[in-house]
Amino acid sequence: MSEKVAPDAVGTVWLVGAGPGDPGLLTVRGAELLRNAEVVVYDHLASPELLGLAPRDAEIVYVGKSASNHALPQEGINDLLVEKAKEGKNVVRLKGGDPYVFGRGGEEALRLREEKVPFRVIPGVSSTVAAACYAGIPLTHRDLSSQAVLVTGHEKSGKAESVHDWDALARIGTFVSVMGSARLPDIRDSLIKAGKDPLTPAAMVEWGTTPRQRSVAGPLSDLPEIAREAGIGAPALLVVGDVVRLRDKLNWFENLPLFGKKIVVTRTREQAGALSEALKKLGALVLERPVIKVREIHPNPALDSALSRLGEFDLLILTSPNGASFFLKALFEKGLDARAMAGPKLAVMGPGTALPLKEKGIIPDIVPETHLAEGLLEALKDLAPGKVLLPRARETRDVLSVTLKERGHSLEEIPVYETLTGRDVPSDVVLDPDDPPDLVTLTSASCAKGLAALIEKDKRPFVKTVSIGPVTTGAALDEGFAVAGEAETSLIPDLVLEIIRVLAGPGA
Ligand code: SAH
Repeated sequence: MSEKVAPDAVGTVWLVGAGPGDPGLLTVRGAELLRNAEVVVYDHLASPELLGLAPRDAEIVYVGKSASNHALPQEGINDLLVEKAKEGKNVVRLKGGDPYVFGRGGEEALRLREEKVPFRVIPGVSSTVAAACYAGIPLTHRDLSSQAVLVTGHEKSGKAESVHDWDALARIGTFVSVMGSARLPDIRDSLIKAGKDPLTPAAMVEWGTTPRQRSVAGPLSDLPEIAREAGIGAPALLVVGDVVRLRDKLNWFENLPLFGKKIVVTRTREQAGALSEALKKLGALVLERPVIKVREIHPNPALDSALSRLGEFDLLILTSPNGASFFLKALFEKGLDARAMAGPKLAVMGPGTALPLKEKGIIPDIVPETHLAEGLLEALKDLAPGKVLLPRARETRDVLSVTLKERGHSLEEIPVYETLTGRDVPSDVVLDPDDPPDLVTLTSASCAKGLAALIEKDKRPFVKTVSIGPVTTGAALDEGFAVAGEAETSLIPDLVLEIIRVLAGPGA
């Protein structure tokens, strides 16, 4: 790690606030430290997605379940931090929310100091503000409350009397409690007994800032029953005060169009990113489960030869984003660049295929609106017969090549990649019978085949899918899946629009 504090053998321990759950709420500093960690010690409130930032060879240690069920008691965690630092390792201790807000970060830091282990503390976005925020509750507001107090509902065990001064707490504008789910009726009784109006608006926010967030609200007197009926459990934040009234107007997160919808993205890991990000921004819970793998055909003497004769062709057709990417890769590996493509006209199957080319500064001459061989053939219908280079997938529909040949073109067809299906995905992940996804996205015919390889035939009609275009839809229907919608074009924003229509549109 670049940030060794002590020059000798002792490593440094970084107590890093992981934020409240939404991985995007980790600080920039926290992310940088995770990327350089040798050991990461985390517990159940730190979003597991953040662990992906750590280097592959980092040691990842899980130390906690929940308040009542510690995987490792606090003393054991303290010992572990000291031990790893003394091994010379730089340790990131990732703690939910902010390390010093009811996080026992203070206890860990004191122990490190006692052992002369260098430590640093990076604050985090605390759930005490963030869960309220994502539930539409500002903790203060000039007209409603100019004070807020944070308390724990889980007081240190062994004490007979509450340590809280309830009379004082009842007078504060906004009352916020962590770890209050189990003791909610007691907290309500104590506040009301101390003079809080039973009709004060109150809310519970469970798993705030995550796609699993749920919130309920009602008068303080009834909140424990409302929360119990809704099955609200830990981790949850309790907020009591007039500010809760703003929730009706400010609850933006739970009103996102895809909020809480569980959507499976089946495309390859390399390609899933853009779609997953777009869906997450709309509030969806995205599960990336690649059902296909795309492999370059290598070595590829036929492609090699064609690349050195590119100038001879009248037309170069690239039929998929993968095909375009592998073609460019082979071109660059040969020591050539975009100038080698200057001779032939360049046609692509659809706007999605144009994207990897545009990224390299290459603008195709012919881009049909739809991602379909038929659309491309229509666009090419007036082209005089000539020499056509067609790098493509090993397994593909032949309508393009058959028609071009019929029109008198001379074709050089070269497979540049192949698609493997049915690997890496346990079927129960996609179709957990207890918790099925709301939707599965299919972005190619091979995704439909790959998904089919993992799901028994009689279960497929119950898998709701949205497809990226007619060929994919055809393949999905052939395999027996239910296709609830089809994107207007093969571009991700259009697929996302279709997903919104299916899951959140009128009649959804
Ligand atoms: N240091 C943490 C709090 C740790 S105490 C922070 O600053 O957020 C653990 C308690 O925090 C939980 O019992 C719950 O009351 C609250 N909490 C943590 N994450 C939460 C979340 N995503 N939504 C609601 N409450 C949460």
